[in-house]
Parts: sequence; C-alpha cells; structure tokens
Amino acid sequence: MTKPLRVLVLVLGDQLNADASAFDGFDPARDAVWMAEVAEESEHVWSSKPRTALFLAAMRHFRDERRAAGCTVHYTELDEPENAGTLAGELTRAVAARRPERLVVTEPGDWRVWRALEGAAEKLGLGLEVRVDRHFFASIEDFRIHALGRKQLRLEFFYRELRRRYQVLLDPAGEPEGGEWNYDADNREGFPKTGPGLVPPPVVFEPDATTRAVLALVEKRFAGHPGRLAAFDWPVTPAQARRALADFIAARLASFGRHQDAMWQGEPWLYHSRLSAALNLKLLDPREVVAAAEAAYRAGRVPLASAEGFIRQILGWREYIRGVYWLRMPDYAAVNALGATEALPQFFWTGDTEMACLRDALRQTLELGYAHHIQRLMVTGLYTLMLGVEPRRVHEWYLAVYVDAVEWVELPNVIGMSQHADGGFLASKPYVATGKYIQRMSNHCAGCRFDPARADGENACPFTTLYWDFLRRHEARLAANPRMALQVKNLARQSSALRAQIEARAAAIRAHGGQAPRAAGIPTQDSLL
Ligand code: FAD
Ligand code: SF4
Repeated sequence: MTKPLRVLVLVLGDQLNADASAFDGFDPARDAVWMAEVAEESEHVWSSKPRTALFLAAMRHFRDERRAAGCTVHYTELDEPENAGTLAGELTRAVAARRPERLVVTEPGDWRVWRALEGAAEKLGLGLEVRVDRHFFASIEDFRIHALGRKQLRLEFFYRELRRRYQVLLDPAGEPEGGEWNYDADNREGFPKTGPGLVPPPVVFEPDATTRAVLALVEKRFAGHPGRLAAFDWPVTPAQARRALADFIAARLASFGRHQDAMWQGEPWLYHSRLSAALNLKLLDPREVVAAAEAAYRAGRVPLASAEGFIRQILGWREYIRGVYWLRMPDYAAVNALGATEALPQFFWTGDTEMACLRDALRQTLELGYAHHIQRLMVTGLYTLMLGVEPRRVHEWYLAVYVDAVEWVELPNVIGMSQHADGGFLASKPYVATGKYIQRMSNHCAGCRFDPARADGENACPFTTLYWDFLRRHEARLAANPRMALQVKNLARQSSALRAQIEARAAAIRAHGGQAPRAAGIPTQDSLL
C-alpha cells in the first residue's frame, strides 16, 4: 500500500508557479503535488479550443518540470478512463489513493472553484489550508481595507497607493516621476491613414511535442467547441514567458502608450504585450514585468508615458479588478443594473457579420483566443452593451473565448467595466460611443458597408443606431450622472421623428439576431464574392 502523505499541494491550471505560497515548507520526501485536467473546466462555459489547449499545455510543462525537480506529482490527464471529470471528483480519487493528512492550496482565481475544493475537502473530512496568493501586489485583504468606508471605488486612488507602497516610477522626493501620476491623456493616438507601418511582430513559440499532444487531444475531445488551433503559439513555460516579456520591452513598449487605443484591420497585436495569459497562469511574475518596464524608461529606451501607461495596466487595473472581484463575489456575477435581457447574437461564435469592426475582432478572437483591450471594450463589449444583451451571457462568452480568461479578471472587466451591469461601482460611467469612435481609432469603417455617421436609414451603422437608442432607453438614469450630461443633452436635441426612426431600426436589429436587416435588392457581402 502507498505510504500516506503529509501534505497534498493542490495546483490549479492558473497556479503554475513553483514559488507559490502553497509550496512553502514543501518536503519532497513527505509531500506531493496534485493536478488534474478535467472536462468540467472546459464545459461549464463552452470554452474555446485555444483556451483549453493553453491551460493543458502549460499544466503538463509544469508537471514535467516539477517531476524533474524531484517532486511527486499526482496528475490526471483528460483522456484517462478513470478521470472523474470534475476537480472535486478527481481530488476525492487522489485522496483515497494517497491518504494525505491535509490539503494546501494557494487562493484559487475563481469563486466557484474555491467553493468546490472546500466542499470536497469537507466531505473527505480533511483540512484545506488556503494560503494568500503572493503573485499579486495587493492581497484580497489589502483591497478590502482600501475599500472600507469609501462610497466610491476608483482605480486612480488604489493605483497611487500601490505606486507609493512599491516605490514604482517615483522621483527621489517620492513624488510621481515627471510630476504626474497618470499620462493617459498622451496615450490616445490612432494611426495615420497609411496605417501602423511595420510593427515588430511578437516572438512566437512553436508547439513542442508536449503541446502538440495537447493540441491533438483538444481537437478530438472538444471538436464541437469554438475557436481554432492552427495558429497556436503561446508561451507555455516560465522561460518562454520571460522571452516574450523581453521581446515586448525591447521591440514594442516604446510605442505601447501612444497607440494603446488604436485598431487596424488584420493587425491583432500592434504594440500590445500579449502577456496577459502568461501572467494569469502565473508563468510570469508581475513584479518582474513592472520592473522591466521601469528599467527601460530609466535607461532612456522608452518614453515615460509608455512606461507609465503599461505599468498602470499591471500594477493598477489588474490589481484593482481582482480586488473588486473578491470584494463583490458571489453576488457580482448576477448584477444587471440596466435590466438587459437580450440573447448573445449567434454571430459572436462565428464572426459572420457585415460589420467590419466586429468581423475583424470576432474572427481574430476565434482564430487566436486574443483581442486587445480596445477591441474587447469598444467593439465587442460596446456592441453587447448597447444591444442590451443580458450581462451573464456576455460574461460567459468572454470567459469561453480568450486564452487569458480566468474569472477573477474576466468577470469584473465584463460585468463592471464593459456592460455597466454594476450600475457604476467599478467605472463611473458606461463606455458608450457611436461608430465614429471606431472610425477615429481604426481603418475598419473604410471597408464597411455601413456609415458610422448615420443612425437611421439603410446604411446606418448599427453602433450609431444602438448608441442613440441606448441613451433613449436609459435617459433618466444617465441624466443623473454628471459624466454623461453632454451626451444626454445631445439626445434632447434630436427631433421626435428621428428618435422614432432610430427606435424602430434598433428594434429591427434586435429582431434580426443583432444584425442590421437588409432591404430587398441590397447585395450581401457573400453574394459579391
Ligand atoms: P496589454 O495591452 O499589453 O496590457 C498589459 C497587461 O496589463 C495585460 O497583459 C494585462 O495583464 C494587464 N491589463 C490591461 N488591462 C487590464 C484590465 N482591464 N484588467 C486586468 N488586467 C489588465 N484581461 C485578462 O487578463 N483576462 C480576461 O479575461 C480579460 N477580459 C476582458 C474583458 C473585457 C470586456 C475587457 C474590456 C477587458 C478584459 N481584459 C482581460 C483586460 C485586457 O483587455 C487584457 O488584459 C488585454 O487585452 C490582454 O492583452 P495584452 O496582454 O496584450 O495586454
Ligand atoms: Fe463598425 Fe459601423 Fe465602422 Fe462598420 S461603419 S466598421 S459597423 S463602426
């Protein structure tokens, strides 16, 4: 019979860090690691193939690295016949086989998973020790203390607190480098009409034998799931993640700030870092990322606005979002302040739409498991918000399709920032705009059959129609928000006839599965091919 263990350290797919607190005091002679690939994690939402593949590939590399370091790793692969299919079921099997005295885990990144592990441990009559996740700059408790007694939470205050605490981008007097805390105003440039030019392409990682085996498994086991694997080239080990970081700092960080909000047809990466998945799986330490960006600025290799803009995303937004998740869960997942009830349009799973901006963002998402922030916020998220899609359905889509999607980061971004379903808890106003915003920030409209300046009529841009319809539907609520005053005032200038036309067209879009209906005689894109 197998010798009983002292500690079984539970490692989840987004905890691939051998320095995690769960490993403190780990003794390879008496303790072991537990990891499991289970179908439930790909099926509780309709997880895309790239997302599942990335998690499994990185998990197998971590398993192999731990075994090479002398650890016993109790690991279940997805296609093992006895696989129970759930984390709780697999943990129960492992405990029966290894009889540990206790279980230790670092704080999970998903409320559902945390509860499932607690429930399983309780049933097994074992203690589950949950240790603080040191990966983050701020603990869950730090954020709770920050939030105490505040009527409103805002990124800026929390970000400044962390800059001071960790001495990031401060001058010798302890004041913000350059005199300002935030250089966002310098970071909103689009590209010239000729486009972004030659953007240095990000370093890519050819799948090795371990990753290729995972790709084949996912293709077979999740054949009906969305997304494609042909272009899979994500970093799956800490060494690869560090190479990706070094490449970004050297080749693209300098222009990150200026073009952070810009989009261009067929250019998925532009000057973005492509590091979110490596960070969220804990292949990469955010301290290392922030330090590398600051060092590049101090060495005169990148402008302050770029370094600060990038650092704000990691030290600011990423930490703030996590704080909000744990402060508000589990109720946060069910908020719906705007009473939105529409279904998610079917074309979000295919990219089959005439709207050029959405087509590009959706196809790229399904192809790569990636879209950058402005595509997520001001194209896909903007559209579902203004269409009135039920926030829970939008959340499930985002959780399913992006390789970096873990609930603690995905859910507040979708529910709070993008869908305004928390009524302004996370962000002070809904991010709404007409198609003219997309026209300004990209070249999409030039190749689109719709006109971003028009809200009514056959060629009206659905974004523009839905924008005015959104203001009309929520006029009373928005009028009470000073940051929306100008937009509400502009709505008041519309004639009642125009309002009625827009309302009718918005209703027709909703009745046509979220797409603009065509008048007879207007050719479709496909019929022109
Ligand atoms: P860059 O543009 O290079 O930014 C650098 C890093 O900053 C990112 O890698 C990320 O770690 C961090 N970051 C930037 N913005 C945010 C933010 N708002 N919240 C948290 N971290 C941020 N990010 C995820 O990691 N997982 C998600 O599931 C996710 N879902 C999102 C859904 C919506 C609706 C929106 C609006 C944003 C979402 N984000 C999510 C945040 C952001 O869009 C992604 O982190 C970013 O696009 C990832 O690409 P990148 O690594 O090239 O980022
Ligand atoms: Fe998107 Fe409207 Fe521009 Fe077409 S016209 S690309 S739908 S914003």
